[in-house]
Amino acid sequence: MKIIASTGKEEVAIVYIAEFGEGKKIELVESLQPPIPREEKWVLLVSSMFGCPVECIMCDAGGCYHGKLTRDELFAQIDYLVYKRFPDGRIPSRNFKIQFARMGEPSLNPAVLDVLAELPQRYHAPGLMPSISTVAPWGTNAFFRRLLTIKKEMYPGGKFQFQFSLHTTDAALRNRIIPIKKWSFEKMAEYGEQFYAPGDRKITLNFALADSYPLDPQVLLQTFDPARYLVKITPLNPTYKASRNNLNTYIDPHQAGAKYPAVQALRQAGYDVIVSIGEVEENFIGSNCGQYLRKHLEASEPLGTGYTYPVQELGGSEL
Ligand code: SF4
Repeated sequence: MKIIASTGKEEVAIVYIAEFGEGKKIELVESLQPPIPREEKWVLLVSSMFGCPVECIMCDAGGCYHGKLTRDELFAQIDYLVYKRFPDGRIPSRNFKIQFARMGEPSLNPAVLDVLAELPQRYHAPGLMPSISTVAPWGTNAFFRRLLTIKKEMYPGGKFQFQFSLHTTDAALRNRIIPIKKWSFEKMAEYGEQFYAPGDRKITLNFALADSYPLDPQVLLQTFDPARYLVKITPLNPTYKASRNNLNTYIDPHQAGAKYPAVQALRQAGYDVIVSIGEVEENFIGSNCGQYLRKHLEASEPLGTGYTYPVQELGGSEL
């Protein structure tokens, strides 16, 4: 793996563009949550695929799919980020999250499981917390069966974060947003029953919510028990795809304390709700969920609301 360019801000997030030969490029990210120091919390985002066959309508990383990363290619990303900061492989961060979420749907790549099974031995990282976020594609039963075993054996007692990305409770609209065949809410809940164990973190139901997407607590209550699931709502981050599809965010990332009727309704229905706004600066860096630098570098018109940081080639010149 060769790092060819990067952008960002040391105290917030850095995005790296990496090449694996034959022009195959991916991106990886490390981020902090200021003012929390790296020793407290450090988040890595790695790519699991070259492009993504799912092509969610708000995600700049979708499309141009040409294969899955191998176990070694996945570890090359994590090794790069870890050894750059901690050359002896000892990671002191109390909360050290590794998300397989920059580009690619992790459940479509079995090598992600090989990495999850090896991670605890590979580094000295007492705060290790892997995170799998999935749209639950159809045909992934074998992946999720093995994930269940790995999580039970290697990450018991709240050491694993698992998330279903739903984005709306309207089934027809969900098919439009995530345009592949996927698990129904019932099948997700069936899996969640097996996955969740006492002492675990609740399973997250994630909504990158556009103002036009329904989020009906009564629909969720039919299948997802608030004792096992929490709801996370995030802003729809500024991406070229969201802009092209005329999607506007429901959550205003500039109004941290704002009150939202959807949040209130979910809480009344019994769900724990996290409104996850994060660092607005990440929108400008292009390190947030759904953002992808290559989309920006190929765009003829800049977006304006995101990706404003210059991307530096490894040699120092701007891309
Ligand atoms: S959100 Fe995830 S699954 Fe959807 S296109 Fe982007 S990378 Fe793929």
